[in-house]
Amino acid sequence: MKKIQMVDLKGQYEGIKDTVKDAFTEVLESSAFINGPAVHSFQKELEEYLGVKHVIPCANGTDALQICMMGLGLQPGDEVITADFTFAATVEVIALLGLTPVLVDVEPDTFNIDIQAIEKAITPKTKAIVPVHLFGQCANMDAIMELADKHGLFIIEDNAQAIGAVHTFTNGKKQKSGTIGHVASTSFFPSKNLGCYGDGGAIFTNDDALAHTIRGIVNHGMYRRYHHDVVGVNSRLDSLQAAVLRAKLPKLDEYNSRRRDAAKKYNQAFANQPDIVLPKTVNDCEGICDSCDCHVFHQYTLRILNEKRDSLVQHLNENGVPCGVYYPIPLHRQKAYVDSRYDETDFPVTNQLVKEVISLPMHTELEDEQIGFIAELVLNHIKV
Ligand SMILES: *Cc1c(COP(=O)(O)O)cnc(C)c1O
Repeated sequence: MKKIQMVDLKGQYEGIKDTVKDAFTEVLESSAFINGPAVHSFQKELEEYLGVKHVIPCANGTDALQICMMGLGLQPGDEVITADFTFAATVEVIALLGLTPVLVDVEPDTFNIDIQAIEKAITPKTKAIVPVHLFGQCANMDAIMELADKHGLFIIEDNAQAIGAVHTFTNGKKQKSGTIGHVASTSFFPSKNLGCYGDGGAIFTNDDALAHTIRGIVNHGMYRRYHHDVVGVNSRLDSLQAAVLRAKLPKLDEYNSRRRDAAKKYNQAFANQPDIVLPKTVNDCEGICDSCDCHVFHQYTLRILNEKRDSLVQHLNENGVPCGVYYPIPLHRQKAYVDSRYDETDFPVTNQLVKEVISLPMHTELEDEQIGFIAELVLNHIKV
């Protein structure tokens, strides 16, 4: 059996090696390292794949989030609501811009932002909501878009973990994640579902005026060479990264379906275990998505009940199986983000999840034998 890894980038690379090498050579020969033709082509191809009017590539997913907020013209003092249970980048950029982060609890089954908690947190100062499509599945965008309409709020989708996922609205309409809100950000960090070989990110929007504003912001606030109309940043996707992404984009759906296959096999192995809660998929496909793309399993995350999580992590590691705890500390308890407005009783779910979640190896190259080995280790430990 091949050594089990959390993410197997090498194995995936083997399958696209020739395409990537040729694309790299083309960039090297052209010497167009920044804003070269590869970046432009990737932008067009991603717009087509997502069905969105504008993709604006940038340097990483954290920049992408920050630039979304700058583009929307959010001002110091404006309140931005986001999930307590996510990667820190989301709240970091809110704070960096002098905006006020307002963290709210998540749902226990999907791990995504809780709608009632959002409603409770809305004040006259609230300007935007950042739903994070955590672990590969869209937040409840039906309810979130309704709240946006009702209260006149901007929706910034943090799509770093869910590229390729499809959200089905209650009226049956389907839309790709990251194309539903006013604007969205994504990351091409190597381990993401669509990852490059360094840092990369992008912003998506269907709003022409916002897209124009953002194209200037990523390039030092320039709309005409050496005319700086707004304060901008330097945030670019380089051509070598765009070349990798062009090689991988045509395979994204296949990659995502391989992740779903692995998730399905894990689910079968862990079914009906009283101490294991399987990841829930929203479309009532009981966590086993064959035909729908509601979940792209950036992470395969279980809840382990009865305080067995920490010993399970240890058991797996001792047996050479890597695993992750995403995330071990709620953001509202991180030193950088503590705020007197928060009350512990507002975060019952996140406070529980940080003690229960475990993410198992999940990538495009997982073999049945490896899944079987991991599942057996987990079950042996949990059944006792
Ligand atoms: C990875 C990630 C980011 C940040 O992306 P970078 O490219 O690493 O800056 C932001 N939000 C979420 C939810 C992420 O998972």
